[in-house]
Amino acid sequence: METTRQLYQLQELDIEIDQKEQSLAQKNSQLGNRETLDAAREKLTSGQKHLDELKHQRRDAEGLVDDVLSKIKNTEQQLYGGKVTNPKELSNLQHEINTLKSKSDELQNKALSTIDLVEAAEKSVAAVSSEFKTFEEEWNRQQQQIAGEIEPLKANLAELKQEREQLAGQIEAPVIALYTKLRQQKKQAVARVERGICRSCRISISASALQRARSGQPVQCSSCGRILYIS
Ligand SMILES: [Zn+2]
Repeated sequence: METTRQLYQLQELDIEIDQKEQSLAQKNSQLGNRETLDAAREKLTSGQKHLDELKHQRRDAEGLVDDVLSKIKNTEQQLYGGKVTNPKELSNLQHEINTLKSKSDELQNKALSTIDLVEAAEKSVAAVSSEFKTFEEEWNRQQQQIAGEIEPLKANLAELKQEREQLAGQIEAPVIALYTKLRQQKKQAVARVERGICRSCRISISASALQRARSGQPVQCSSCGRILYIS
């Protein structure tokens, strides 16, 4: 086989190996990476904590209302119980009841607003919880998928590398050295030639260079320096 064809195939293999190495590195970094899952769980936990605080506030507010209502009841019992007959004392009791009732209205309004807040937070936590469940299922599914892809990918890479070594072994060492240097410098070491033009830099190749390249010997493009390959 002509050297340039071998070099072109070597480059195809190297490109495939690079892509698969990258893919493997990405999968390895994704495997067991709980960052997004932990963030989603943290959102749920903080929502639940907020809900607990609101429920606590609601209990406190309801407790205050109960206290005032029971005070009103006691004071009314004193007022209407018949034991107190002094008009001044009766008037004081009535005044106290009025004050307690207005306090009770105020506290009931506060309690109602905390009840609304609890209901809204409960809805929000339910939504976040359901979102989290979906996210966690998807995360587990992805992790399983990634774990299942890693071994076949490693095996495939090992095969490709073996194939590459075999092919590289058939090419003369100085040519491999040139190829390696060009690949490090330009990523693409071998350029296809189409209709007498280097496809990498779009420069016309001289007739003599084309003739040498056709024989399969490594000829570098006079403009970009890549090894020319005529398919
Ligand atoms: Zn070129």
